[in-house]
Amino acid sequence: APHRLPNFCAGPAAIPTPVLMRAQEELLDWQGRGLSVMEMSHRSKDYIAITQKAETQLRSLMEIPDNYKVLFLQGGASLQFSAIPLNLLNGGRADYLTTGAWSGKAIKEAQRYAALGLGEINLVATGKESNFTDVPAQSEWNISDDASYFHYCANETIHGLQIFEPPQVDAPIIVDMSSCILSQPIDVSKFGMIYAGAQKNIGPAGLVIVIIREDLLGQASEWCPMLLNYEHQVDKESMSNTPATYSWYLAGLVFDWLEEQGGIAAIGKINQQKAALLYDTIDNSTFYNNPVAPKHRSIMNVPFTLAYSNLDKVFLEESEKAGLLNLKGHRDVGGMRASIYNAVPLEWVQLLVDFMKDFEKKYA
Ligand code: PMP
Repeated sequence: APHRLPNFCAGPAAIPTPVLMRAQEELLDWQGRGLSVMEMSHRSKDYIAITQKAETQLRSLMEIPDNYKVLFLQGGASLQFSAIPLNLLNGGRADYLTTGAWSGKAIKEAQRYAALGLGEINLVATGKESNFTDVPAQSEWNISDDASYFHYCANETIHGLQIFEPPQVDAPIIVDMSSCILSQPIDVSKFGMIYAGAQKNIGPAGLVIVIIREDLLGQASEWCPMLLNYEHQVDKESMSNTPATYSWYLAGLVFDWLEEQGGIAAIGKINQQKAALLYDTIDNSTFYNNPVAPKHRSIMNVPFTLAYSNLDKVFLEESEKAGLLNLKGHRDVGGMRASIYNAVPLEWVQLLVDFMKDFEKKYA
C-alpha cells in the first residue's frame, strides 16, 4: 500500500487514496488518448465530456433541482464574497449573519460595494460576544423586510461552528458551504445559492462550485467583472476563460468515489460517527476542551484545547512523530484542530483518539 498518513488538514485537505491512484493511472495517458487531462484543450470533446460527467454526478449526489445552474469557477470561495454583492445586491439591501471568521470576511467584502453605492449591507447578528462559540437566537436578529438576499456560512472552518438547518427567512438564502458541502444530505431547494471552495470535500484547490437558482440570474451590477457574472458564466458553461481543468477532472473522480461509498447519506452516517467519537473523547476528559455550543458543533472541523497551553508544542511534536499530520489549530483560536472531512476514514479518527488518550495519561 502507498505511504499515506492520517491528514487532518483544514484545507487543502486529504483526498481519498483511490482517487489519487486513479489520477496516477490516468496521468500520462487518459483513456488511451495519449495525453494527460491537464494537456487537453478545454474545448475538446473529451474534456467537455469530463465536465458534463462531473456536473451530472454532482446534481445526482446533491439532488439539485432542475431550476438550479451549476458553475465550476475559479478564485476560491473568497472571490465569491465579491461576486455575491456584485451579482445580487442590485441597489437593494442584503442581510448578513456573522458566526465566525469566514462569514466575517464575507460581510467585510460586501461592505466595500455598499461603500461604492451599490446597495446596503445589514449585519443581522454576530456571535462575537460568545467568541463565536454560539449563534445568537433568531428572535434577536435584526432582519430586513425586503432583503435582496440573506448570507451566512454553514460551517465556520476555523471556529468549528456549524449551522445545520438554514434559517427561516424570506429572502433568498446564499450560503457558504466550503467546508461542509457533500458531508451530509441537504435540501438544495431551501437555498438561493450554495457555493464552496473545492479544497476540502470536492478535490484540489483552484476550483469553486456555485449552485444558483435561475431566478437570481440577470441582476448583476454594470460594475461586475465579466468573469464574476453568474449569468455570463451560465451562458459560457463555466468556460468564459480557461477553467481549472485538472481540478475539475479530479472533482469528477471524487464524485465517482462518493458514489462508490453509497452517496451522501452513507458518507453522512460515517461523518456522524467520526464526529461523535472525537467529541466524546473530548467531553469525557478534563484535559481536552471544545468550547462550541453542542447543537452547533461542526462535524467537519473539531477545534480543541489542552488543559495547559504550554503543552501545545509537545502535542504537535508528538502527534507528528506518531504520523498524525496537520493538527495545529488556527492562530485565531489557538490549540488544535482536527478536520475530518469525507476523505478522512473512521480509522484515522480512531488513531487520533488513541493518541489523545495516551497523551493525556502521560501529561495530565
Ligand atoms: N469559506 C470557508 C468556510 C472556508 O473554510 C474558506 C477557506 N478555508 C473560505 C471561505 C475561503 O476559501 P478560498 O481559500 O478558496 O478562497
